[in-house]
Amino acid sequence: MKKICTIVLILSASLSYAQTANQPPDHPSVTVQGRTYTPRSILARNMGTPEDQETQFPPHKIIGNIYYVGTRTLSSFLIVTPQGNILINSTYERNVPTIRKSVEQLGLKFSDIKILLGTHAHGDHQEGDAAVKQLTGAQVMAMAEDVPALRDMKPGGKEHPIDKMLRDGESVTLGGTTLVAHLTPGHTRGCTTWTTKAQDGGKTYNVVISCSLRPPNVVTPPIAEEFNRSFKLVRSLPCDVLVGDHPAQYDMQAKHAKLRSGGPNPFIDAATCRLEADIEEAMFRAILAEQKAAQP
Ligand SMILES: [Zn+2]
Repeated sequence: MKKICTIVLILSASLSYAQTANQPPDHPSVTVQGRTYTPRSILARNMGTPEDQETQFPPHKIIGNIYYVGTRTLSSFLIVTPQGNILINSTYERNVPTIRKSVEQLGLKFSDIKILLGTHAHGDHQEGDAAVKQLTGAQVMAMAEDVPALRDMKPGGKEHPIDKMLRDGESVTLGGTTLVAHLTPGHTRGCTTWTTKAQDGGKTYNVVISCSLRPPNVVTPPIAEEFNRSFKLVRSLPCDVLVGDHPAQYDMQAKHAKLRSGGPNPFIDAATCRLEADIEEAMFRAILAEQKAAQP
């Protein structure tokens, strides 16, 4: 009996190790605006469950010509113009049919996507690029610093399409809409924050489509340098509407619920434009402090 118990104990210990092996640690913790976060809780907040990552979220207009066409926890944005549309983030390849369904539910054609962009070279945001390119023939454009990581992303052995490499500050224009690519590295080398202007109700609004600012488990000096620059840069961007590559970064579900009640557009929310940067910068500084304290 004792022997069986020991085996069970070893088995359950190795199972829980396997489950947490890919997880960031549950420390340090930071509190921002009354909420406490750890690296693990931020990742869980961003990703949700496997089901959340694949389940369609109701497609909706955010502001002007910008629409949400992603899943519950992985954002995809569609920018609609008279000369065709721009898709930002294909997410996982298995989600491409779901994104297509969302685009069609908005009354638009998936094949009208002329340009495919992304926020950063991780599979949960850009693995589906080759599939979107196959279905639409869209031009795929990516920040040069993310291209090596994108080239390594080959779902089912398919080459990652790159039609144009972008540089920091470069513009992408289609049908009268211009998006500006800002290099905001740290999370990946070519993490790209997109800015544009949207017209709504006779007014012009500054829209920021942000790249993740979540620091890795170990922050090396070059990555720290990138983040120091990126936090400063994202804070300097004019912003009335902020959306991010995971909906939890901008409290999408709560804002979407308000949208249905019919008041002013809940996505126009300059007051929370820098909240995600505040959370991630606090975490970044706490990780650096923890790393420094652990040094002999
Ligand atoms: Zn990522």
